[in-house]
Parts: sequence; C-alpha cells; structure tokens
Amino acid sequence: MFLGHYAVGLASKKFAPRTSLGALIAAPILLDLLWPIFLLMGLESVSVEAAGNPFLRLHFDSYPLSHGLVAVIGWATLFASIYFGLVRYLTGAIVIWIGVVSHWLLDYIVHRPDLPLSVSSNRLLGLGLWNYRWQTIAVELLLLVLGVWIYVRETRAKDKIGSYGFAAFIGLLLVAYAGAAFGPPPSSVKKLAVVTLFTWLLIPCAWWFDNHREPREPRLTDSASAGQAPHADPLAIPRAPVL
Ligand SMILES: [Zn+2]
Repeated sequence: MFLGHYAVGLASKKFAPRTSLGALIAAPILLDLLWPIFLLMGLESVSVEAAGNPFLRLHFDSYPLSHGLVAVIGWATLFASIYFGLVRYLTGAIVIWIGVVSHWLLDYIVHRPDLPLSVSSNRLLGLGLWNYRWQTIAVELLLLVLGVWIYVRETRAKDKIGSYGFAAFIGLLLVAYAGAAFGPPPSSVKKLAVVTLFTWLLIPCAWWFDNHREPREPRLTDSASAGQAPHADPLAIPRAPVL
C-alpha cells in the first residue's frame, strides 16, 4: 500500500485539526520510514523478483521490527507519547496512534501472507489484493481521492504555497506511485532502500504547505462549533515538523 497511507494522513486532519499534517502523515507512513533503515542496517531483509506483476516484485523475507503487529503497536505508542510530550494535544496523539496502526491494517489487505505478528511468531498474514493489479490501483486511487476530499473540506489555502504546494505534493505522490506500478524493478536492495529513504522528505513538505493553509470557517448551520478559536492553543501548532 502506498497512496492509501497518505490518504489516512490527509483524512486525519478532520479528527485532529490542530495537528500539523507533517505529523499526521508521518504516522501512517512511519513503518515504511523505518523499514529502509532496518534494511540498510541488515536487521530486516527483502529480495527482488524482476518479472511479473510489479506489486509482487518484493519478497518481504523478514521485517518483524518494522511490520510485526506487536512492534507496530510499540511504534504507535512511542510516536504518540513523544507527540503528546512535545505538543500536549491528546486528540492529536490518539489520531497519531491510530494512524501508525492503520498502516499494518492497510498493508494486511494488499500484502500476500508475509506480515508477521511479532519477532517470535511464525504466523504470516495478508489478504493479497496485490495479486489483482488493477483492483489495487483502483483502491489506492479511491483512498487518495477520499483523503484529499476530506483534507480540502477541512482546510483552505492562505496563499499560493498552501494551494500549489499541496497540489505539487499530491502530484509527486501520483508520480512516485506510477513509477512503482509501471516502472522498472529496483536494480538492487540497497538502491531500493536508499530511494525509499527519500520519503522522509515528504514530511517537512507536508508540514510546510499545511502551515500555509487554515481551517475553514465553521458553517453557519454548525452553531455548536461557532465561536471556537481553532488556534486557541499555540502549543498545538508545532513550529517544527513533529516526527
Ligand atoms: Zn508497509
């Protein structure tokens, strides 16, 4: 899963409007941010099969530290705790926790049975949507459209960075996804890991354009939330990307 994880981050804005999109996107992609580091350290392993369905090229031989369900719950709790310690916004911390765990659940839908429960368990899980190439692409695109729709309903651009920066970010995601879905296979595991490391850069990008957007005004019919100041707590808007 690729676009679907970013869709979760974008949609999270509805539930934690005071949290920067940088942190909200870092949560659902956290496992794939850690995975290339563990690959380069030799703690996890993957092998590449050049031919066939592009979604089935990677054989995830071992990745219980980044993608084992027990470890995932640990990463979610660690990230949510650090966020809460820094920002003191409980709703944001809860949404971040759910975001990290959502990665495993979405991966469970697409991966072949290769997702471990823990370091010690031999049981591997996955429903295998990746076996169906076009259905996978349709699901990913649908999730992204939903995520973008929710984010745009919640926020509006304050300036050109807020609008064009956001559009460029979505464009970049689509180009990266097209590269994975239709492009050539990675020539080596090391190259794959290094290229995947570049996804870290998307987090400051998301933080940046999100800072140039603001919550939409409460609708007139929405009397319950009228009069609330969305930026009442300055601590809730991180000055730097909270990872
Ligand atoms: Zn993953």
